[in-house]
Formats: sequence, structure tokens, C-alpha cells
Amino acid sequence: MKRLAGKVCVVTAAGRGIGRATAERLTAEGGHVIATDIDSEALETLDCASTAVLDVTDGAAIGEFSERIGTVDILFNCAGFVHVGTILDSEESEWDFAFDLNAKAMYRMIRAFLPAMLDAGGGSIVNMSSVASCVKGVPDRFIYSASKAAVVGLTKSVAADFAGRGIRCNAICPGTIDTSSLRERLRETGDHESARVAMIARHPLGRVGEAGEVAALAAYLASDEAGFTTGQIHVIDGGWAN
Ligand code: NAD
Repeated sequence: MKRLAGKVCVVTAAGRGIGRATAERLTAEGGHVIATDIDSEALETLDCASTAVLDVTDGAAIGEFSERIGTVDILFNCAGFVHVGTILDSEESEWDFAFDLNAKAMYRMIRAFLPAMLDAGGGSIVNMSSVASCVKGVPDRFIYSASKAAVVGLTKSVAADFAGRGIRCNAICPGTIDTSSLRERLRETGDHESARVAMIARHPLGRVGEAGEVAALAAYLASDEAGFTTGQIHVIDGGWAN
């Protein structure tokens, strides 16, 4: 028996990268996966139960989507954006954008799906944070780190408030993971090769991570096998924060 058989799962930012790998992994483990993203083309090539275009910064769209989908067992909030720079390189509008997409979107999604989860007697929520937050200070990631630390706070609050009603809520904190947005950030440095070597060097295991490795952790946290785990941050970082 597959460990997610019969479980209805919603994944945000499932078009690419970690979200996509997780939608595929949850599907492989028997989950009925509803994969969402703003990029309809990326969703077209994803093999899962169903897909839906969903912008997680659009509260009205999330309201309509959750009404349509009804009760889910597993919610994986993956959408997020990396702002590069220190506090002095930042504009208030960039702070607002990052907090809206990285943290408030999770508030919106959980607010929309939690009542039905509670009515059903339980569920597992997994939120994407990062090592670059309360785990480890990372240079040039001021806004990103602040917004991902907010994800840890909202995760722990939801876990504390609803543990007694069958809800588990955990956060994943990856180190550097090889995805298209990472490759874009490396290109933007103007010296892709040196930036790549420096990124690898900060991970004692001598490489960056794979999206599938994060997906495997997400699938575990989503599953009943993690039934005694809630309110925690789960670091998967090649030893970076050690
Ligand atoms: P990615 O860039 O490969 O994919 C991001 C996806 O998000 C894209 O499919 C994009 O269309 C979608 N998206 C963007 N805006 C959206 C919106 N408003 N609503 C819905 N979907 C939207 O990303 P990734 O590197 O796999 O990162 C995924 C998550 O993991 C992010 O939250 C990121 O901060 C976090 N993370 C990534 C790394 C890394 O090194 N890649 C490390 C730690 C944490």
C-alpha cells in the first residue's frame, strides 16, 4: 500500500523546481495531487490528478479555489521568491512583495483550507522556509531571510493552536537546491562559474541539493509516518548550518 493512498494533496508553485518535484513525489506515493502554479504552460506537462492556475497572492482566487476543491488532507505551501541584497539595497515595495508571496500567501492558503481539515478531523500542512532565516544568517538575503523566518513563526503558531485537533504543521528549511531559479540567480551574478563553485563550497557535503531530495522530505512530513511530528523546522542543507 502506498503511504499517501487516498490522500488529497494541494501543492502551490508546482510548475517548476521543488514544488514540481514534490507534486510528482506525492503522486508516486499514491496521493491525489492538485498541482497549482501561475504558469499554466509548466502545469501542462505535469502528470498528476489535476492542475489549476492559482496565483497565491490573489486572495479572491484562493477563496474560489478552496471552495471548489473542498477538503484536502495535505497542503504543501511552496511558492516563494528570492530577493537578493542587504537592507541597504532594499526598497519597501520589495519587502512588501516578498512578504506577500513568501509569507502572507501561506496565511491565505491555510486560512482557506484549515476549516475543512478541522471538520475532517485532521491534516498535514508543510510550509517552505529556508536555511536562510532563523537557522543561519546568510549575507545578501535580507528580505528573503526575514520573510522565510515569518514562515517559521506562522508554522509554529498553527501547529500550537491546532495540534489537539489533528492538524500537523511543519516547515522545511533547505540549503541551496538546484532549480531553475537558482541557475537564474547564478547567471545574474555575471560570473556563473565562480558563483556556482562558491555555492557548492558552503555545503560540507560538497554539492548542492536536488529538488527530489526536498520532495522526499515533504512526502514524509505529509504522510502519517510523521504522525508524531509538528511545529518543527526540518533542515535539509548538506551540513551548511551545522
Ligand atoms: P522555482 O523558481 O524553480 O519555481 C518557482 C515556481 O513558483 C514557478 O513554477 C513559478 O511559476 C511559481 N510561482 C511564482 N510566483 C507564483 C505565485 N504568485 N503563485 C503561484 N506560483 C508562483 O523555485 P524553487 O527554487 O523550486 O523554490 C521553491 C520554494 O523553495 C521557494 O519558496 C523558495 O524560496 C524555496 N527554497 C528554494 C531553495 C533553492 O535553493 N532553490 C532553497 C531554500 C528554499
